[in-house]
Amino acid sequence: MQDDAFITKTINKRKNIALIAHDNKKQELIMWCAAHREILARHVLCGTGTTAQMVSSQTGLCVHGYNSGPLGGDQQIGAKIVEGQIDMVIFFSDPLTAQPHDPDVKALLRIAQVYDIPIANNRATADFLITSSLMNEAYAHQIINFHQHIHKRARSL
Ligand code: PGA
Repeated sequence: MQDDAFITKTINKRKNIALIAHDNKKQELIMWCAAHREILARHVLCGTGTTAQMVSSQTGLCVHGYNSGPLGGDQQIGAKIVEGQIDMVIFFSDPLTAQPHDPDVKALLRIAQVYDIPIANNRATADFLITSSLMNEAYAHQIINFHQHIHKRARSL
């Protein structure tokens, strides 16, 4: 593997965390946010529109809201991951109900994987993440060097 194929990125101690819950999971996410309110308050929170508004009003946490998920909110959060503005995603998805925006949900999971972003899609994983000692530290990770990737592709195709 070439040395310049990956670059080191740092997730800061104060993390940008996106919160998303499908309708049947919204109460569970609100309860989870309330349980971890003190930790979450130390970070910068955002979320899909309805989730953000409900978490804000029911826990008092400050959560910046993007569009509602089915109207493009998941895609906005994916785009922020690409821009390096979201470091972690807590996404309580509903595995038992068909979602109109399923392609957007898949796209978000995929882009989080591409950018090595920690993403929890159920409560247990979210509990493990939020109680990790890495929540209180900066974390350096290797992600694909996309400039180098484009440069190579443009030369070889
Ligand atoms: P919502 O979107 O927070 O606006 O309900 C969540 C989703 O379904 O992706």
